[in-house]
Amino acid sequence: MNIILMGPPGAGKGTQAEFIKNEYPIPHISTGDMFREAVQNGTTMGLEAKKYMDAGQLVPDQVTIGIVEDRLGMPDCQPGFLLDGFPRTTVQAVALDEVMQRLGKKLDLALDISVPEDVLMDRMVGRVFCGSCKTVYNTVFNPPAVAGVCDRCGGELVQRSDDKAETVKKRIQVYMEQTQPLLHYYTQQGNLVTLDGQRDPKEVFKDVRALLEQLG
Ligand code: ADP
Ligand code: ADP
Ligand code: ZN
Repeated sequence: MNIILMGPPGAGKGTQAEFIKNEYPIPHISTGDMFREAVQNGTTMGLEAKKYMDAGQLVPDQVTIGIVEDRLGMPDCQPGFLLDGFPRTTVQAVALDEVMQRLGKKLDLALDISVPEDVLMDRMVGRVFCGSCKTVYNTVFNPPAVAGVCDRCGGELVQRSDDKAETVKKRIQVYMEQTQPLLHYYTQQGNLVTLDGQRDPKEVFKDVRALLEQLG
């Protein structure tokens, strides 16, 4: 099954991807995670990407499309993939269609997680993640048992440098301008399903699972 997760920053894409990964053996491909890893490793691409990320802007299409293209060609994507945070522009969506065609793949589902803007803001400023195992928490909505410590591995919880209120505002604006129009693109393809993301994460996942079961 080949799936993309859409929805604004903070909608819960990464959270749902974790649930999906636990039940379906397909790779979770998050362009945001890939960029953050490149930043951490101090690669040339990472240093370039960081400038855009910290400004709340999108990394240029050429760079982003290149890394996704390479990733989808890897053998572990043969049984399917879960793309999270890509595509985010029409140019990326068209490129993805071309890459899939070349690889003989077909998109099964574009899952849009819908959450109102004011809620996104609260979610993102409360988001923290484990520096070691990358598990995502929320200081208000999904706190760890001990503040600042990862439940899973005991690692230290940190905030993303782009989850500050000012940057978050910019990212939501960029989403509205550049990414939201893609919902129409996938509606026209007949692949879009929108879910109400303003519920308990486990409730949201029940709907996600029902949709994935239909794909077989
Ligand atoms: P995205 O990948 O779409 O940016 P995340 O999965 O990282 O979103 O979630 C953003 C923040 O909101 C995190 O702190 C996460 O713990 C929290 N969160 C995710 N889903 C929900 C939900 N359904 N209700 C409340 N908080 C949520
Ligand atoms: P969120 O889900 O909270 O928006 P991500 O982790 O998906 O955050 O992305 C973090 C940042 O990485 C984005 O703000 C952007 O700068 C960059 N990025 C991620 N995916 C893309 C993409 N498909 N195109 C361009 N930039 C991207
Ligand atoms: Zn951890």
